[in-house]
Amino acid sequence: MEEKDIEEMDEEDVNEDDLDEDDEMEEVCPGCGVERSEWKGNNGQGVPKNGETYCCQDCADGIDCTCAA
Ligand SMILES: [Zn+2]
Ligand SMILES: [Zn+2]
Repeated sequence: MEEKDIEEMDEEDVNEDDLDEDDEMEEVCPGCGVERSEWKGNNGQGVPKNGETYCCQDCADGIDCTCAA
C-alpha cells in the first residue's frame, strides 16, 4: 500500500473580477453571416429570435436577407 503525501495545493490567484465582457467582437447574423454594422432590421439592433439575433426580420423568419440588397 502506497501512502501518498497530500501536498499542499498552491492556491492560484484566480481573479474573478476579469469577467466583464468585451464587446469588441462584432456580432454576425446567424442566418446569413452579415456583420452587425450592416444590419438593417430593428434600427440596426437586429431582430431577436430563438435566443439569437438576426440582421433583419426576413432573415429571422428564414425567408431571405434583405440587408445586402
Ligand atoms: Zn441575416
Ligand atoms: Zn438581413
